[in-house]
Amino acid sequence: MVADARLDLLSLDLRGCEALAQSLGCKPFHGRNLFKWMHKHGVDDCEAMTDLPRTLRTRLAETTRIGRLGVAAEQPSADGTIKWLLELDDGQRVEAVLIPEARRTTLCVSSQVGCALSCAFCATARQGFNRNLDSGEILAQVRHAVRRLGKAPSNIVLMGMGEPLANFDAVVTATEVMRDDLAYMLSKYRVTLSTSGIVPGIYRLAEVSDIALAVSLHAPDNALRDQLVPINRKYPLEELIPACRAYLRGDKRRRITWEYVMLDGVNDSIAQAKALIRLLEGTPSKVNLIPFNPFPDSGFDTSPPERVEAFRQRLLRAGLVATTRKTRGDEIAAACGQLVGRVRDRTRRLARAPASIAVRAGAGQHLAVRADPAPSRP
Ligand code: SAH
Repeated sequence: MVADARLDLLSLDLRGCEALAQSLGCKPFHGRNLFKWMHKHGVDDCEAMTDLPRTLRTRLAETTRIGRLGVAAEQPSADGTIKWLLELDDGQRVEAVLIPEARRTTLCVSSQVGCALSCAFCATARQGFNRNLDSGEILAQVRHAVRRLGKAPSNIVLMGMGEPLANFDAVVTATEVMRDDLAYMLSKYRVTLSTSGIVPGIYRLAEVSDIALAVSLHAPDNALRDQLVPINRKYPLEELIPACRAYLRGDKRRRITWEYVMLDGVNDSIAQAKALIRLLEGTPSKVNLIPFNPFPDSGFDTSPPERVEAFRQRLLRAGLVATTRKTRGDEIAAACGQLVGRVRDRTRRLARAPASIAVRAGAGQHLAVRADPAPSRP
């Protein structure tokens, strides 16, 4: 497949559209209108943007394009969740999930093809990593969902495939467009970036953005977190927690959402709940307990519901806000950490996999089936 080399207009934020219009001899407000046509009205064809000067429309049609993702598969679930396998220009695939609920509809988007981190319990991690999505490819997932839903989702979470802070610029640009009044108009509370804990990325994000931050914690101490979320070896808890506090900038209305996947017999004891309480003391927090979503050969089991509830009750007693995430779309493997897409692994994850993971994954059998063979490096 030959990728279209023309500039993808979706990769531009509002200022980018204004600058483009000016560079083509028009006024900034023409760029503003272009931006609105794409994101508010979902128009794909510059010729249909009737309030742009004819010369601009022609130039845009010649030199630019508006990216669109192919739909390789659409899987609706009985609970209303829809998972899409979306195809990029280079034939690789990422997943996006739409989760309708009574009072809100949440869209979960991917930020990378695969993931370079190796969280022990995550299906995406087993796929290896190929590349970052650009901002246009992230927003194309949003446009796809809007088209399908007939309106903008009420919440967008960067919790699909990939580590958003490892694709910083594209993710920040995309979240700005999600928030823009001329586009999807989502408030800073309704766009959530979820990170495994890339500490310098959290400080950088604080400089340019104030969207909601969720952090994949999963363990109350370094020894266990080193195993479950190996990036912890680089950015341990004593660096992560202060970075998250700094992100809140003392704003009393804001708090960090801590994601904590409940793994049977691994991180779900009352002693660990107590350690978690101590760890989060003084940080405005909400703990979101996520029942582990199993996938073949994961090597982990889901904590029994009563243990999840006992853990939650212990957190509540200490005054923490704690919820248990309702698992949605699990029968279509659309739940957290089950997204796999189609990744041409460039990291040779299988060859490098720590023994413990390789063993848990049944010598990597399902990996070989799911991931394309690794191409030689360019
Ligand atoms: N890389 C980012 C965002 C993607 S993952 C991050 O790590 O936060 C979104 C959430 O799903 C993370 O909290 C992740 O740890 C969690 N998750 C991954 N695999 C899971 C699984 N099998 N079951 C439940 N949650 C999982």
